[in-house]
Order: sequence, then structure tokens, then C-alpha cells
Amino acid sequence: MLSFDLPTMLLMTVASSVTMAVAIVAVRHNARKDGLGLWSIALLLHACAYVLLALRGRVPDMVSVVLANIVLSGVFALMLAAVLQFQGRVPRWWQTAVPVAATAVLFTVFVEHYVARLVIAGMLFSAQLGLSLWALWRPPQPTPGRGARLIMVGVTLQAVSLMARAALAVGGQMPTAGLLEASPIQFLTFFATFVVVILSSLGMIFMVKDRADADNRYFATHDELTGVANRRALIQALDRDVAHAVRSGEPYALLMLDVDHFKSVNDGHGHRAGDQVLCHVAAILRARLRAQDLVGRYGGEEFVVLLPGTPARGAAGLAETLREAVEQTPCEYGGRAIPVTVSIGVCGARLEGGDTWDRLIHAADQALYAAKAAGRNRVECVALAQEPPRAPAAPA
Ligand code: GH3
Ligand code: MG
Ligand code: MG
Repeated sequence: MLSFDLPTMLLMTVASSVTMAVAIVAVRHNARKDGLGLWSIALLLHACAYVLLALRGRVPDMVSVVLANIVLSGVFALMLAAVLQFQGRVPRWWQTAVPVAATAVLFTVFVEHYVARLVIAGMLFSAQLGLSLWALWRPPQPTPGRGARLIMVGVTLQAVSLMARAALAVGGQMPTAGLLEASPIQFLTFFATFVVVILSSLGMIFMVKDRADADNRYFATHDELTGVANRRALIQALDRDVAHAVRSGEPYALLMLDVDHFKSVNDGHGHRAGDQVLCHVAAILRARLRAQDLVGRYGGEEFVVLLPGTPARGAAGLAETLREAVEQTPCEYGGRAIPVTVSIGVCGARLEGGDTWDRLIHAADQALYAAKAAGRNRVECVALAQEPPRAPAAPA
């Protein structure tokens, strides 16, 4: 026959909260505002609340009843703050302060009334948990699901167990001797709390970890400043595209684009203005390309645009459109309009076996050099066949 001892269960709940809090603090290696810091404080407070509850009868009720429940309400407020911080938000003052203040007032007034206390706890705490549930249900940006779902299951379980206790109390089904009297419903409540601590904390950890993984995947292929493909992703795409163009016999084109006199933007308006100009140019390029085209940052103020299935003539026309768009759209920065122009080298070809991406890049680079030499803010084209063979590398 299963037997249960409520003080032992309280101890288990305290132990699970402290263990989770310590584990989270120990494995966090940065001070990011990802909600985990607030979550571990909530877990430690949760342990404190259960220690206070366990002291029932040995310390005044103002401590073991009122203070313990104020701390519990604080725990639910911190959980909400942690979830919102993960989402890059902050709770409104009433979402955290009002439930905690209401707990303090109502528990003080009804400290002698066991049933009333269970009803107050059921309603107030469930409302607080409902706020976290809502925040997770409607995140401002899509979040990887499994962690959020675990927290939602935990939060719902906690709210349901609190409300069930309140309903049973109203129906006269709860033991009247108090919190530590062994009864199936008290057992289930504490058991639910024990499970909820583990479930929701794992959910929080998964949520943070999944986002960190997603960020890592993103930054492995994207340029952090402008959001376009980074050099590594560009070269991977070029490699794949060139193999496909050789196989299919479709034309292929590549643009190499460099911001003119970019150094003087940095020197004249500051490095941040320079960064803004790079983002501005990247946005213009992205807005005018087809879904199958790819724009990437090749180096400092150099961008490359890959145009699969595009003949040289089409690529030259597009390059001219891009050049014109940049020229006609100055970059707004700090209330100033910074004029920007770009020079573009175009290389378009039907590729044959043995052609490699670095040949294409080299040809476009030659065309870009010619555009710079001819006065900048212009487009120059080169056909792959015309490109002079590269001199062999000098021995080191
Ligand atoms: P040109 O017309 O011949 O291309 O001249 P330029 O001034 O654009 O070219 P140059 O190569 O002399 O200068 C490029 C400058 O770009 C130098 C470098 O400090 C700056 N730069 C490179 N990366 C970044 C960046 O990420 N942000 C900012 N703000 N500047 C950068
Ligand atoms: Mg430049
Ligand atoms: Mg350059």
C-alpha cells in the first residue's frame, strides 16, 4: 500500500526547486537577459515558500500562512517576468504588483479561514499562471515550440491543481486540520507541484537552448550587421550553383558590387553611419532581387549577388537598375541624408565542365576594377571567356 508523508513531500519540493535553481545558475555561462536568471530566483523563492509552509504550527500563522503565500505569489510574478524577459518584454506593473499586494491583503484578512484561503489562492495564483500561459501562447515572435509547450503543461497543471483544491474546499471535501494533514488531495497537490517545478524548469531551459541553437545556425550563414548571406554561405551557394549550371547548361551570372568612397563616409560621418550605409545598400539589393537570387556580403563594403538562370545581358540590366536605385536613395542617418553610390562588376556566362566559382568571382572583380577605374558609380561587364587567364601564383 502506498503511504505518503506530507512533510517529506514538502522537503522533496524544496529540494527539486533548489536543485533546479543551482543547476541553472551553474551551467549558465553568460549574463544574457534570457529569463533564466529570473527563473532561478523564482525557484529559490519557491523553496523558501515551501520551507515557510512546512513550519506551520511552529511559527506564527502570519509567517507560515501569510508570508509563505506572499512569497508564492512573488514566485508566479517572477515566472511571468522570466517568460516575458525571454521574449524581450517586461511585465506591466499591475501584472506583478497587484496579485502580490492582493495576496498580502486577502491572506491577512482571511488568515483564520482555511476555506477562504484556499479559494483566494486558487483564484489569484491561477490568474497569475494564466498571464504566463497567455504570454507563451501568444509570443511576439515565433519561438521554438517544445520548451514553451512544457512550461505551458506545467503551468496548466499547477493552476488546475490549485483550482481543484479550492473547489473541493468549497464543497467541504478538504481536510480541515490544515495543510499538513495527510489526504489524497493534499498528496496530489504537492505531487503536482513537485512535477511542475521539474517540467516547467526543463521547459525554460529548452526554450533558451533552442533559441541559442537557432541563433547559432542563423549566424553561421548570415552577416550579423546587414542580415544578408555571409561569405561562407555565399561560397557554398556559388559552389552548388556552378555545379548545377554546368549540368543544366543554363546561363549563370554574378555581380560584384562595392560602395564608392566608403572610407570617406566613415571618416566624415562616423563608423556607425558607415554601418548604416551598409545596411541601407543591403536592403536596396534585397528588395529588388528574385526569390532564387542570393545577395551576400563578400567583405567590408563589398557585396556579391548570385543570379542563377540569368544571361549576361539580363544581369547587366539588373546591375544598372541596382546602381540607379542606390544612387537615387540616400541613406538617412541621424537626420542627415548621406549620398551613396556603388560600382558594379558583372560576369555572365554559360559554364562548362572545369569552370569554378573562383573564376567567376575573379572575372567579376576585374569588371568591378574597371568600373572603379572608369570613374565609379557605373556598371562594367566581362564575359568569362574574355577574362585573361590568371598568372600562376608566385612561389612563396
Ligand atoms: P573605393 O571607391 O575605391 O571603393 O573607395 P573606398 O573608400 O570605398 O574603399 P577603401 O577600400 O579605401 O575603404 C573601405 C573602408 O571600409 C575601409 C574600412 O575601414 C571600411 N569598412 C570595412 N568594413 C566595415 C564595416 O563593417 N563597417 C564600417 N563602418 N566600415 C567598414
Ligand atoms: Mg569601396
Ligand atoms: Mg572595397
